[in-house]
Amino acid sequence: MWSLVYHAGETHQRVLVDAYAEYSAENALSPTAFPSVARMESEVVQMLLPLVGDVQRQGGGTMTSGGTETAILSLKAHRDLAREQGRVRRGHVIMSVATHPAFHKAAQLLDLEVTTVPVGPDYTAEASSLQSSVRPETILMVASAPCYPYGAIDPISDLGALALEHDIGLHVDACLGGFFLGIRRHSYDDVPPFGLDVPGVTSIGVDLHKFGYGPKGTGAILYSSRELRRRQYFAHTGWAGGTLASPSLLGTRSAGAIAAAWAGLHHLGMSGYKDIFDGIIETRDRLMDGMASLGFKALGNPMTPVFAATHADRDVHYVADRMEEDGWRMDRQQSPDALHFIVQPRHASVLEEFLQDLEQASESAPPPGASEAKGLIYGQTSLVDRASHRSLESALLDYIDENYG
Ligand SMILES: *Cc1c(COP(=O)(O)O)cnc(C)c1O
Repeated sequence: MWSLVYHAGETHQRVLVDAYAEYSAENALSPTAFPSVARMESEVVQMLLPLVGDVQRQGGGTMTSGGTETAILSLKAHRDLAREQGRVRRGHVIMSVATHPAFHKAAQLLDLEVTTVPVGPDYTAEASSLQSSVRPETILMVASAPCYPYGAIDPISDLGALALEHDIGLHVDACLGGFFLGIRRHSYDDVPPFGLDVPGVTSIGVDLHKFGYGPKGTGAILYSSRELRRRQYFAHTGWAGGTLASPSLLGTRSAGAIAAAWAGLHHLGMSGYKDIFDGIIETRDRLMDGMASLGFKALGNPMTPVFAATHADRDVHYVADRMEEDGWRMDRQQSPDALHFIVQPRHASVLEEFLQDLEQASESAPPPGASEAKGLIYGQTSLVDRASHRSLESALLDYIDENYG
């Protein structure tokens, strides 16, 4: 499979599971009842801050349950600060078509308006189109480092300058790339600026449960200022049960997840991550070369383990169907039709076999556009049946009904 699982080997997995088990009963909601949990969370944040450009550790942050909670918290913090300052009544957010839909979910929950701009020829969000969407109600822009669909890194420095010019926030979604870019920039000089060291960036999200190789249910949000971070908190004083002070979205928070993420960071260490990422890039290059020799073309200029590929003369969704018959789980995309890959350490040993099967599957494939348009679900290979529905959206809601609970 080419998504969903981030696995750094059996020994590492054991470390995560053992740490998780040891703290599975504790509750990270209370830092005073479980000081060791609070300390681990704080140490994770302290380890991440310099990784995302805050070497002086001036901002701060919290752990979250992952990228979606991070998106909600960032939008809430920016919204509440802008409203408190009397700058907006409701609030408006600008993002690109490649921005993760978690930000649409967040905007919907927080009743913020959204403008979505197209990406440019290199699949990044262009400062000029973001700029033309800025209005008095705008509270922030969301940029990606990289975005999920294309693996493209938005021009964070340009967008930071734009944010400063208009006095709005800039959240960098580095859920996918934060670890990779943060670790690699210490050894290689081709990593573009993406973090809190870029003037204008006000917050950044990094998932531990992706390339941080933590357990599922772990992410982090880091801020450029404590003033902004404070706006993500919630406090309530009037309850019969006492007062409630909650740093993030959830009430009860998984201490097991925090402990396992903390243990995982220590287990790999910075050099462990670097070795993993060096290996992944070698595998990715072999994969991209092998695919290029079969006529596939990567979109844009992927700089991380994430990329999408099209084919000029073959229907790639048909190719994916054939590959699935051979037991490969394939990720498909739209706009344009493409296959999607997130390369992991495990892929090194199956690469040759994958390329052989891909060659066979491609040989028999018809030209692009031959297979009928289907609803593609992110993170799913299954395709929803649109024919019997009013809209693709209602087909997706039925899909949820059928697959959960
Ligand atoms: C995975 C991902 C998210 C959403 O994170 P979840 O942990 O799945 O909620 C947001 N942005 C990017 C770029 C991602 O890859």
